[in-house]
Amino acid sequence: MKKIVIIGSGIGGLTAACLLAKKGHRVTLFESHSAPGGYTAGFWKKGFYFESGTLAYESSGVMDKTLADIGIADQVRRIRKKDRWVSPYFDFEFRTLDDFKTAARTAFPESKAGLDGYFAEIDKLSAVMEPFILKPMPMQFAGLKALRATLPYILAGPKYLRIQKAYKGKTVLDMADTFFPKGTPVHRLFADIGYPEMGMEGLGGFFLTMTKDYWHVADGMQRLADALAAKFQDAGGTLKLRSRVDKILTAGGAAVGIESGGVRFEADFVISACDYKSTFLNLLDNPALVPAAQMEKIRRAEVSEGVFTVYLGLSTPNAELERSMKAYSVNYSPLGGNIDFADPGDADYFAKCGFGLHSLSLINPALAPEGKSSLMIQAMSPYRWQDNWHKGDREAYRALKDKVREVLVERAEAIVPGLRSAIEFQDAATPLTYERYTGNTDGATSAWSWNPRKKFYEGGMSKMTVATPVRNLLIGSCWVGQIGGIPSAIAAAYLCAKKIG
Ligand SMILES: Cc1cc2nc3c(=O)[nH]c(=O)nc-3n(C[C@H](O)[C@H](O)[C@H](O)COP(=O)(O)OP(=O)(O)OC[C@H]3O[C@@H](n4cnc5c(N)ncnc54)[C@H](O)[C@@H]3O)c2cc1C
Repeated sequence: MKKIVIIGSGIGGLTAACLLAKKGHRVTLFESHSAPGGYTAGFWKKGFYFESGTLAYESSGVMDKTLADIGIADQVRRIRKKDRWVSPYFDFEFRTLDDFKTAARTAFPESKAGLDGYFAEIDKLSAVMEPFILKPMPMQFAGLKALRATLPYILAGPKYLRIQKAYKGKTVLDMADTFFPKGTPVHRLFADIGYPEMGMEGLGGFFLTMTKDYWHVADGMQRLADALAAKFQDAGGTLKLRSRVDKILTAGGAAVGIESGGVRFEADFVISACDYKSTFLNLLDNPALVPAAQMEKIRRAEVSEGVFTVYLGLSTPNAELERSMKAYSVNYSPLGGNIDFADPGDADYFAKCGFGLHSLSLINPALAPEGKSSLMIQAMSPYRWQDNWHKGDREAYRALKDKVREVLVERAEAIVPGLRSAIEFQDAATPLTYERYTGNTDGATSAWSWNPRKKFYEGGMSKMTVATPVRNLLIGSCWVGQIGGIPSAIAAAYLCAKKIG
């Protein structure tokens, strides 16, 4: 039996906590926020439930296995994500790759050759990644079962590696440049898929996820976090909410505990299931344990982009909202205007960018008061936009946040007419809000940069390492993999549990 401290109760920390407590270790989970969940948390306001940020998860095989291993499979219902894609050029329900292909071909008949070439690449990428989806990950098993779970990787691996080599360093923007004239709407459609300048591997995963394996937690993500937290405590674990860890303590080159609120807690292992940069740049009591070059790399590494979210409680009944939404989510792409995501000085960014509308009450009416509905609007957001969102000047920050909320609500009226007059509750979150609530650097939504030219980890985008230069300090968060996400956080948790034994 080992004494283990885990920092952070996101999906990674909670999963590691459950797995390790079940093995009989003495586990204490520290969370700075007042509720567990991190990016997979939600909140209630005036009878409306909102996801704080993350609306859905991919890789049902990974999640199902996790819930079964922990013993809460019967407590978490999932429901397929239902998306409609709208632009001035198309309006379709995105259920299959053929839906997408047909919509693009109908909207842009003049780009037939480009579309043929592009879709041939997508088919190739999807085929090579298909054997890996809908399945648990090999690290979720032990012994012979682990070997069996590795089989798809052994069989499809060489082909995957060849494709990976062929696309090395290539981004969705490169792909759009190859097949479509720059500055055209069709170029914009393909350049804007996923994260800005996302790697080609991400593109294969994107289409497979969208069409086969993307899920909401029907009762809200907070239900998942609460079920994990309860199971952890049932297994004898200690959950300390409102307990920020201020220091990771070391002795003789190894982690030996943490300090929180002036109190020291000893441990045989410390699992950092929170922000990677803070772990080394702020929490570690002896940064000299990490080679200077590695520290510099951590300092400089770019993180994934942030998001701006609007939360709306509406007087509109679900049936009426459904008539205009036609799906749980609407992805709106203007496919026009001159947008440079990397330009923080573009004051009109939110008047031109694409955005998503998501109604949780359409997924599950119990998530809003009887006869009412809810809507979230999300747009990818530059962190350093407008002088860092006027960080440091409270009033200017609030005014900017309100202005962006109003701009997005007004633009959303193109999909939901009369939206503004139905608002009963409204709030918003900027990348700074996410940074404040989760501690993730710059409000990074999914670990490091998704641009393969800005890699933090050597090797493939799917490589994962939980060990650190500090003995007995492990990484148990999504930051264990280049592109983060829920499956990476879960993978980190299993790897930590295996390492500790
Ligand atoms: C808008 C949005 C959409 C997303 N969509 C998807 C998606 O579709 N699919 C997908 O797979 N992923 C998605 N993600 C990413 C995914 O949600 C995250 O990668 C994942 O949930 C991160 O889990 P985690 O356990 O690594 O860390 P986090 O969820 O970041 O949790 C870290 C926890 O640590 C706590 N903490 C931080 N510092 C300290 C400290 N010093 N002391 C104590 N506690 C501390 C925080 O309060 C937080 O609770 C999305 C994220 C966002 C924001």
